[in-house]
Amino acid sequence: MTHAHHEVVNPATGEVIETVPATSAAEVDAAVARAAKAQEGWAAAAPADRARLLRRFAGVVDEHIEELARLEVREAGHTIGNARWEAGNVRDLLDFAAGGVERLTGRQIPVAGGLDITILEPLGVIGVIAPWNFPMPIAAWGTAPALAAGNAVLLKPAETTPLTALRLAELALEAGLPEHLFQVLPGAGDVTGNALVEHPGVAKIVFTGSTRVGKSIMATSAPLVKRVTLELGGKSPNIVFADSDLQAAAAATPMSFLDNSGQDCCARTRILVQRSVYDRFLDLLAPAIESVVVGDPADEKTQMGPLISQVQLDRVRSYVPDDLPGIRGSAPDGPGFWFAPTVLTDIAPDAPAACEEVFGPVAAVLPFDDEADAIRLANATDYGLSGSIWTRDIGRALRVSRAVAAGNLSVNSHSSVRYSTPFGGYKQSGLGRELGPDALTAFTETKNVFISTEA
Ligand code: NAD
Repeated sequence: MTHAHHEVVNPATGEVIETVPATSAAEVDAAVARAAKAQEGWAAAAPADRARLLRRFAGVVDEHIEELARLEVREAGHTIGNARWEAGNVRDLLDFAAGGVERLTGRQIPVAGGLDITILEPLGVIGVIAPWNFPMPIAAWGTAPALAAGNAVLLKPAETTPLTALRLAELALEAGLPEHLFQVLPGAGDVTGNALVEHPGVAKIVFTGSTRVGKSIMATSAPLVKRVTLELGGKSPNIVFADSDLQAAAAATPMSFLDNSGQDCCARTRILVQRSVYDRFLDLLAPAIESVVVGDPADEKTQMGPLISQVQLDRVRSYVPDDLPGIRGSAPDGPGFWFAPTVLTDIAPDAPAACEEVFGPVAAVLPFDDEADAIRLANATDYGLSGSIWTRDIGRALRVSRAVAAGNLSVNSHSSVRYSTPFGGYKQSGLGRELGPDALTAFTETKNVFISTEA
């Protein structure tokens, strides 16, 4: 089915704020042809010039941080503080990628009878399919390094959050990037997104979203052996050992799963606490949860805003029957898609809320006995994206970091994502890595050339 338009709704009020045309499969086809042409010129340009243009793009984004942040608040309901950080993250990603253009070097490998070199060549046209939970940063995770490595990018934002992406495409042109090199194609996943995945002219798909759709994209890509990077779901553990600074661990726990209203693939939604400090930890956690400020995301003091949509609200509610025991914070009544911060206590480890990705402000707390038990529980999931380990024992911190099967771990911290460090999932949380020192390489083919010295 072709959708002609999408309504963009402000999640804090439920009101329609904009109507955006959807891109048909035929329009995707035309966009791929334009992008392929633009990419040829871009790949042929001097690396220093490509780097300069990307830095200029970063500069123009920097001049529009407040505007982009306000747009993010309106279409995604993010708190204004977070939204400013997210717009700044786009600038930083572009700057970081620009620094890589002239450092994308191949190797010279010792061989007999000649000289052997590797060349990192751009793939061509890249399709970036983004989710609604972090519309700006995730769009830029794929776009910035792909452009830096000499590719063109077609970005399909989520149906609910196309506005910042469309604005970024305008800013790219303002910065002087060649026309058609970076195009934004709003539309439905099964139409516009699928057209990108099926198109033989799109060399690689970078997809961030649900594990279900990620698997279908991998299957659709198989007949063409299309390259994919997949960033999928998570159910990450927050492991609190008895020897940790318990006050610090409890104080940091609320925002480890409430940031962005829990709509975060890295949210630490399984709080694993050593049994000997379980009750004390809950006593410290309860007031911290109850004092989280939930409300108007445009208010500077707000820590947590609404969920993205009615669909998401219904989904989160389905996981949390009223009679489940737990700690609950507060949320506004009235219009908008609000759900109060919730920690479920006395929940079975195999209950849906304890093992499925809820993608809302809901965590389950589970006791464990010792280090081996903590590792067993932490790994008892098909996901493997993030996780945190709270302990004062440095040997234990390292042992557990090695034993937990997840791509992004933090010790005595909940940080997961930095543009300068690699990010991605183990198991069904994803395939491939983004960000970090090798971000550009993911958008290249390695060509090996042997030159004989015998002729
Ligand atoms: P989603 O899978 O529903 O949609 C993601 C994107 O894919 C959207 O743009 C959508 O339009 C598109 N899409 C849907 N069906 C498609 C199809 N058949 N072909 C091509 N494109 C299609 O996910 P969502 O609900 O927008 O995002 C939430 C999910 O994203 C959560 O599971 C979350 O964990 C995950 N996520 C993962 C990361 C990570 O880095 N690992 C980061 C953020 C979000």
